[in-house]
Amino acid sequence: MLNTLNAPATPSAAVSAPGVRARSPSDAVSGLSDARGRVKRKLRLSLTDRCNLRCVYCMPDTPKWLPKAQILRQDEIIRLARLFVEELGITDIRLTGGEPLLRADVVDIVAALDTLRPLGLERIAMTSNGGRLPRVANALRAAGLDDINISLDARTPETFTRLTGGGSVEPVLEGIAAARDAGLPVKINSVVIRDHNEHEVLPLLRWAMEADMTLRFIEFMPLDGRGYWNADRVFTQDEIVAALRQHHRIDALPETDDPARYFSVDGNHRFGIISTISKPFCRRCDRVRMSSTGTLYSCLFSAAGEDLRAPMRAGADDQALARQIRGHVWHKEAGYAERPGYVERPITMHVLGG
Ligand code: SAM
Ligand code: SF4
Repeated sequence: MLNTLNAPATPSAAVSAPGVRARSPSDAVSGLSDARGRVKRKLRLSLTDRCNLRCVYCMPDTPKWLPKAQILRQDEIIRLARLFVEELGITDIRLTGGEPLLRADVVDIVAALDTLRPLGLERIAMTSNGGRLPRVANALRAAGLDDINISLDARTPETFTRLTGGGSVEPVLEGIAAARDAGLPVKINSVVIRDHNEHEVLPLLRWAMEADMTLRFIEFMPLDGRGYWNADRVFTQDEIVAALRQHHRIDALPETDDPARYFSVDGNHRFGIISTISKPFCRRCDRVRMSSTGTLYSCLFSAAGEDLRAPMRAGADDQALARQIRGHVWHKEAGYAERPGYVERPITMHVLGG
């Protein structure tokens, strides 16, 4: 995989000639791009570090929540989102966390983002653990949410509880039903960890097929808050496919821009695998991430981010912030494949958002 990363990604609009690296952010034609020609269209926006679950692959054992003053306020989130859309060409915003639905103003945030559509925003999405959806799914849909990914790593109550540090599967299933009743397209995310829930892969797939929902398995990434990850615990794409092939005909579908690789089951249903560890897709990466504290990360595995909150609170204007963002993204690293394994990083998944 390393050799494929040495070649620049095919740029869609960032550099003057395909395959030629631009020399500085100002060489880029428009939008937000890095020196490897990868154009950024997607922003993952974390709304909070707080969560009602304690997934073993995500949260520290005893999380210390960030002081509220460090978390971006709604007006700050919307100001930055507007800048990303209007000045930097972001078309797709995904709200995440922590658990984004723990934020009391989450519906207002979606409604405010919805006003950015005339500026170029095409999609407002969310990733959630789903438990609070029965109360807010209708309001989120009415406010402008386009679709939602809901995490469900096991259908078996005991396995779900073990993986989520005490959570119950039932509210998540109710949340999935509520989202669908509200008219929200739903995808299911399932992290697969060896010796934890690989036996859930087949039942999850059959359940998703039955319910006509897209399921995406996710390889366990070294981003957890308690040092739980090790390479042996990664149940890889090839292993997932092999396990399913014992029961179904599984065919790989052509690659798309989606981070998941898709497969067909018995020629009709479709599921995906996000194989960040065994088959990284860094060469096609079109996303950037902002933590709930307003720190920009060009990659999930970045060792350092760029603080936008302090300059914003100190009075920086939009042009200065846009310059700062372009400069940071320009230096985006090649990605996980070039530096696999644990990365010393200031924050973990629950703060940055997946
Ligand atoms: N709380 C929400 C949820 O669980 O969907 C949103 C935040 S969560 C950090 C976003 C996604 O990251 C979830 O699908 C979760 O399963 C995934 N995730 C968290 N830690 C991970 C890890 N170490 N490896 C792979 N995926 C992870
Ligand atoms: Fe919470 Fe989501 Fe992390 Fe689980 S994966 S602890 S639900 S933020």
